[in-house]
Amino acid sequence: MGDGPLRIGILGGSLDPVHHGHLFAAEEVRARHGLDRVLFIPCGHAPHKDERAMAPPEHRYRMCELATASNPWFEVSRLEIDRPGPSYTIDTLRQLRAIHGADTELFFIIGADALLEIDTWHLPDAVLAEARCIAVPRPGSELTGLASVIGEERAACVEMVPLLGLEISATDIRQRVREGRPIRYLTPDAVVDYIGREGLYVEASNS
Ligand code: ATP
Ligand code: MG
Repeated sequence: MGDGPLRIGILGGSLDPVHHGHLFAAEEVRARHGLDRVLFIPCGHAPHKDERAMAPPEHRYRMCELATASNPWFEVSRLEIDRPGPSYTIDTLRQLRAIHGADTELFFIIGADALLEIDTWHLPDAVLAEARCIAVPRPGSELTGLASVIGEERAACVEMVPLLGLEISATDIRQRVREGRPIRYLTPDAVVDYIGREGLYVEASNS
């Protein structure tokens, strides 16, 4: 850990499952911003997604642990899966600040697709005030002209990191499992093995 305030990156979402798109983006942002750690935070109750269709939280948490085990800067947080009610990012940011102190710098890492849906977030302006918002590219979601989509004021709070956009999605991974197609190299081997062992995503209800 360097001098100065703690710098914590946050990568949240359903992470169903976590994959190399998440891991690569987190590592790029960590290196670029000299973060002390990046927290992978699988959501408990997703405000935006149909929960019946999601793998149970403990599976998603365990896969995050397996995927991040080899990176000393990566940690997995139970904050959202242990908190009752919908998993709102603003609550997580405030909780982290309460734990680590007001000086801590929080870096909220978010894919272009999720950023473009800012209007559907809970208290989006509070989120932007509480953390530095670091947007990472996602193929299919264009961030040029962001200000015209989310407004000048909000766009001014967002910092874009020009990393290589990987066209990997959890939706595609789940569909591949259902269809018996390979997922190796889209997510770490340990996650591939876990999915197979636990029989995740085989049923259509796990889409
Ligand atoms: P799903 O297809 O189920 O929505 P996903 O692949 O989009 O899964 P999420 O858990 O929804 O993964 O995403 C969590 C966060 O990671 C979001 O901010 C999302 O934009 C970002 N993200 C997901 N995949 C990528 C990727 N390939 N490159 C960059 N960011 C990504
Ligand atoms: Mg998504």
